[in-house]
Amino acid sequence: MKVPLLDLQPQTAFFREQIIQEITEVVDSTRYILGPKVAKLEQEIAEYSGVAAAIGVSSGTDALVASLMALEFQPGDQVLTTPYTFFATMGSIIRAGARPVFADVDKQTLNLDPVKAEEVLLADAAGKRKIKAIMPVHLFGQCADMSALMRLAQQYDIPLIEDAAQAIGAEYPLIDSGGEVVWKKAGSMGLAGCFSFFPSKNLGCMGDGGMITTCDVAFAETLRCYRNHGAKPKYYHAKIGGNFRLDPLQAAVLSVKLPYLEKWHQQRRENSEQYRRLFAQTDLSPEQITLPQAVYQDAPDADQHNVHIYNQFVVRTPRRDALREYLQEKSIGCEVYYPVCLHQQQCLDSLGPYNTQSFPVAEQASKDSLALPIYPELSKKQQEYVIESIAAFFRS
Ligand SMILES: *Cc1c(COP(=O)(O)O)cnc(C)c1O
Repeated sequence: MKVPLLDLQPQTAFFREQIIQEITEVVDSTRYILGPKVAKLEQEIAEYSGVAAAIGVSSGTDALVASLMALEFQPGDQVLTTPYTFFATMGSIIRAGARPVFADVDKQTLNLDPVKAEEVLLADAAGKRKIKAIMPVHLFGQCADMSALMRLAQQYDIPLIEDAAQAIGAEYPLIDSGGEVVWKKAGSMGLAGCFSFFPSKNLGCMGDGGMITTCDVAFAETLRCYRNHGAKPKYYHAKIGGNFRLDPLQAAVLSVKLPYLEKWHQQRRENSEQYRRLFAQTDLSPEQITLPQAVYQDAPDADQHNVHIYNQFVVRTPRRDALREYLQEKSIGCEVYYPVCLHQQQCLDSLGPYNTQSFPVAEQASKDSLALPIYPELSKKQQEYVIESIAAFFRS
């Protein structure tokens, strides 16, 4: 049996005609830059995410770059983020003219740990106050601890930019000022939320695409300006932005797919439950392998919310590399997210003290985490085969 890590074939076959029709409309309209398809998708995503405005951009990376450029950093400014994420999180900080500063991640979620973040902010406040933004990542489809991070952002009076590239539609039980739980979608809590429509994300297009969400209408205007070379009006440049525009062909594809997103989230969650049931029937111990935790599942009404959208289903095992090789031999797709922490990336060698830092929780995760197939159309038989193979590996 073959179990790919991700198979886009079933959903592509399902939409094929509808997508071709939408694309043909764009072709015939000769509106190839922004235009009504992009405006329509922006409206739909803003509504879906519960924000005032959404700005279509060319990729998740460009969503981050444009949002950070709009904060207008001065030389020496820093952005506090996690060392355990995709490279774009850090690359965009540096490209926007700031320096990344890291705090370690939480053991359970592998998201930015608010306690560690506070230590870094305290030290910064005792010095020159260089940290000008906090950028948490909602890793693998589960939100970072936003109640705590938003408190820090408020206390230190700096904006939060959410890297929500893996978390469109993920919901978080935010504790409001009255102590009540209010469910919020990823990207609706910070000053801006940055999304990616890379094909392997839960909502993917047929190329590159991204979106920025915000509840601040003035900031939305600024972002629209940065998306288009900082021009306002055309040919008058008060700012230096870039070409960060979303392609209408991609917007057309995404508008076809968006109505099915909730169903896919549901199927991914069911697959996660299925894995948990199958694991429980084996004799595998937590010393051998652990499954990802949905940490907000005990919040009020959590069963009615997407506390985790399982963009990735990441297990952890001390025998990671051997298990990976074994599964690959069995034609089971799996992948390491991420083998090298950001503070250990070679590109930072020339930038100073990064290579002497250590973040033990993140570094441990880079050695023992492994993503298993979790895509919506995965069959029960395939899941049984995955778990049987893992059990066989640990018996051998
Ligand atoms: C996918 C991803 C990005 C970048 O998105 P692209 O659309 O590929 O540019 C940024 N951050 C995280 C955490 C991601 O997973």
